[in-house]
Amino acid sequence: MSGDAGGRVYLVGAGPGDPGLLTVRGAELLGRADVIVYDALASPALLDLAPAHAERIDVGKRGHEAPTRPQEEITTLLVRLAGEGRSVVRLKGGDPFVFGRGGEECAALAAAGIPFEIVPGVSSVVGGLAYAGIPITDRRFSASFAVVTGHKDPSKPAEQTRWTELATAADTLVVLMGMRTLPQIVARLIEGGRDRDTPAAAVMNATLPTQRVVRATLAELPAAVVKAGLGAPAIVIVGDVVSLRDTLAWVEQRPLFGKRVLVTRPRAQSAALAAALRERGAEPIAMPMIETGPPDDAAPLDRALERLAEHAAILFASRNAVDALTARARERGVDVASYAGRVWCVGPRTQEAARAAGWGDVRVAPGGDARGLAAAVLADAELAGRPLLLPRAAEGRDELPEALRAAGATLERVTAYRTRPAPLDAQALREALPSLDALTFASPSAVKAFVSHLDAASLAVARARPSVAIGRTTAEALRVAGLDVAAVAARADATALADAVVLAVGGDGSRQQGGAS
Ligand code: SAH
Repeated sequence: MSGDAGGRVYLVGAGPGDPGLLTVRGAELLGRADVIVYDALASPALLDLAPAHAERIDVGKRGHEAPTRPQEEITTLLVRLAGEGRSVVRLKGGDPFVFGRGGEECAALAAAGIPFEIVPGVSSVVGGLAYAGIPITDRRFSASFAVVTGHKDPSKPAEQTRWTELATAADTLVVLMGMRTLPQIVARLIEGGRDRDTPAAAVMNATLPTQRVVRATLAELPAAVVKAGLGAPAIVIVGDVVSLRDTLAWVEQRPLFGKRVLVTRPRAQSAALAAALRERGAEPIAMPMIETGPPDDAAPLDRALERLAEHAAILFASRNAVDALTARARERGVDVASYAGRVWCVGPRTQEAARAAGWGDVRVAPGGDARGLAAAVLADAELAGRPLLLPRAAEGRDELPEALRAAGATLERVTAYRTRPAPLDAQALREALPSLDALTFASPSAVKAFVSHLDAASLAVARARPSVAIGRTTAEALRVAGLDVAAVAARADATALADAVVLAVGGDGSRQQGGAS
């Protein structure tokens, strides 16, 4: 059997869109996948959960000639990949068995002798209604629901949906893939005896920051949908439960609902900020401006690592510094856990990273900035007059070393990493700018790289948008670049930065997108 090589396919439900709706089991499998085979709708945040080396195959591309990739092509691909002994995650929107052709894919795997597992997902049926504030059942209004596809397989003309029977068979009707044929569906339901004044709704991009809901009576829904410009993917809900949305709508109350916020942090650090923004209702637009890499010359760093024990303390002014020093130590066979000196960190995130990397005696300075770190180190009586090590970026700032040296500390600075502009599609950035509601920056180098991609016209567009800085130094860089510093984070972390965006955008919670009701 092909599966003997250890290959296996996991059919994983990706949930309806919000990456937070992936199951714990799904996250675990993505975290150790060799290959991910996904459809067009899969969230990039989910793909980021897979190891960097994992192969990512998009089978959802829709060209003009071929509306969908033939199913046999996908199953052949799955069989081949697993046959090579790889761990394959087949990521499918919502739940794999809810109009997902998961059954056909499993059948092909079974026929080829490939072992498979199925990880259910939050279907858009359940997730979409939840995020629209519409309970699918409710003791007062509905004791049953039916889920129907509005898309009929044209190759099987005999397979007709029994709309007239369905019209009154269940209290709540949920229609998937029904946007194109909505007028016909509604007509059949009314013909079948459903009251034309039944509350109804369409939910587009459910669970995503771009979610839009249109409410109308059953008879008026098709026109209302056209008027609001709603299209696929959307679910249609028919039933008295829809009226509960008047009091239960919650997504639209989030302070950044419908706002598009640029995230310029390096990819490795943007996940926490993206999640914090999503939690506040915003759509994070990730365009990393910088990335970190090894220093041009690693020799000074290697010498410092050889003499690590001579330093009474190591000062980490960023997570990057922790990651860079630890990674090089590993490569050089230096055991960080055996370092007996103190490790002082600029803030809690850096401290967390240092602990996770295996450093002992890790302490955090109050204040969360360079000044606080200098003060804490100078106040540490153990360290008075003894040599300190500061691993830092090639383009590191001088505030911390200057403060320490002025106070008479013996400080060795060593370049542990350098940041450089990340490859970026400048055209895409310029095109996205006018649609952005806020820009976020977590370092002066990100500001510099951002500005370098703009021509005069797009710089003017950027200046008209509120910019939000993670701290004072970044705010200063924004001012120098002529950008509008609308808010500065109270602390140097993702949560505080997202809160600062709320302040900057002045989200008032009651603002609604066009078409929402
Ligand atoms: N297996 C999926 C459904 C696949 S069929 C699930 O369980 O959700 C694709 C249809 O699902 C779309 O046409 C649309 O009707 C619905 N759908 C999926 N995701 C959606 C979303 N985020 N918002 C609205 N509808 C969605």
